[in-house]
Amino acid sequence: MPFALNDSPNVVPLRAGDGVRIESGSGTGWIEDITLDLAGRSDDTHCLVALPALTNVFADDDRPVRVWTTARYDDDAGARLPFVVYVAGFRDGRSVGEQPLKYFAGPEEAPLVLDATIPPRADRYQLVLYVDRRYRGTLTLRNIRLVIGTTEYRIGPTEHIVKPIEMTRAWRQEGSRLICASAYGEHWAEMPSGWRLDEVHPSAMAAAEWILYSGVDRLAFGVTVPTPASAGPPSRQMGPNTLLSFSLGTDSTAAMAILPDDTIRYYCRRPYTSYLTRTGAAVSLPDPGPWERRLAGVANLIVIANTFERIQLAAGGRHGFAHNFGYAAIGLLLAEHTDAGALAFGSVMEQVFLRSGHLFADVVALERSTFNALRRLVNSAGLFLTLPTAGCSEVLTTRIADTGRHAGLAISCPSASADGTACGTCFKCFRKLRLEGRADVPDPDESVIHALEKYPLKSATSVMYAVQRSGYRHPAVDEYRDVELGFLERYFDYAVEHMLPAHLQDHVRGELASFGIEPMTDDDELRLRTIGQIFWPESFSWSRAGIGEPDAG
Ligand SMILES: [Zn+2]
Repeated sequence: MPFALNDSPNVVPLRAGDGVRIESGSGTGWIEDITLDLAGRSDDTHCLVALPALTNVFADDDRPVRVWTTARYDDDAGARLPFVVYVAGFRDGRSVGEQPLKYFAGPEEAPLVLDATIPPRADRYQLVLYVDRRYRGTLTLRNIRLVIGTTEYRIGPTEHIVKPIEMTRAWRQEGSRLICASAYGEHWAEMPSGWRLDEVHPSAMAAAEWILYSGVDRLAFGVTVPTPASAGPPSRQMGPNTLLSFSLGTDSTAAMAILPDDTIRYYCRRPYTSYLTRTGAAVSLPDPGPWERRLAGVANLIVIANTFERIQLAAGGRHGFAHNFGYAAIGLLLAEHTDAGALAFGSVMEQVFLRSGHLFADVVALERSTFNALRRLVNSAGLFLTLPTAGCSEVLTTRIADTGRHAGLAISCPSASADGTACGTCFKCFRKLRLEGRADVPDPDESVIHALEKYPLKSATSVMYAVQRSGYRHPAVDEYRDVELGFLERYFDYAVEHMLPAHLQDHVRGELASFGIEPMTDDDELRLRTIGQIFWPESFSWSRAGIGEPDAG
């Protein structure tokens, strides 16, 4: 369907007598927003409305071009419906093809980030808004621009208005609400009463902002922001308290159980039950009810409702923090208010040391490990990065969470039912139920079988421990049936020594002892460090394992 070239400086319907009413507002010399009122249309044709054709200035740039705008659609039914905007290319006034960009719009205005390809031979291009013939509501696109790198191209009547994107961020406090205005819009967190933005230490602020935004800046604009950890030693004094990022999962529940009772816990709550993707599609989140009810029983807990997981959505990415430890940002913002000196996270040995269970890496000794990068960052804000359960295998974190003083609290299954009951058949449940040697468990679902057939085996140590304990059989894992995994029942003291501040180490060792959990022997540690020789021999290296190569002979 070749489109006609819009040679005019206006937003125009491409079909005469179409019945669509067009309003377009302008910024300083560019088209800022477009409203299409579809009420007066008949069923005869689809609506096609073209913006002015402009020179294709993107032809020699191989960086991605994206259309940034916000979309809203209002009709009597309040529906969220599919739409298309075409990027149509022209050469010497003739059509050379067009690319459809699909999106959804509904009553809640959504930021859209759409990947655009302008037909490469085109010397001019124009955007064409398409609306299905059956729609009778009002479609509004606001803040329309093309973005490439850190430059935005507004659509003027005859040429682009080119501007650098404003990359600065502005934090402010309104009541107890902390708000950050950025290129991605405004995002906020509801902080505890008495919390003050002007009391957050600048180094903690810098680290929090880096965690929330650096990955997003890279995704959206290809910009790499240096970490504030390189700025020198911290100027903030460490306080006496420990802050724990608590998620209600097995690992953070286990961490809570072995840390002192006066540990201050914080929980990040999403103040929404659905979100809109970069194309405006609505996605529902699980019912937070079971989580909320269990949180009510946790003492010493600060709940922080926040929208920071939506920053990345507004930049064209997925929902969630851009940084693996995004929750650390909230901890950094709370550090001064809670007089904290240590920032703790739930973790499990397999994730920290075993690349999810098949190959050991000494992340303490390896300068460039993710752990050390995060440690430097958290440390730059005057906090000790603490992973109390990093020396505990999934066997142990599960045991501690299930039998400790917070037994029954954790929700480990990602597909838990509305009352928090585990599904019993997912990959997590497959391991968890069998780790304790239970044989009367439901068969695993298809995705588990797929996981078992992958190489290297994901969560290999836990899977095989569970398989051995429960007597489960599958041909893909039979070769590992006799691997000695008893060391998973003891803790890796190296982690206690390096991932806890001195004043917490003996407390944690004492708590582990109270569960009857002993430290690994030298032989256990060697088994752990060389486990890659069994599950992924091609990738095993003595130096990554943190031990010298034994003499060949
Ligand atoms: Zn499950």
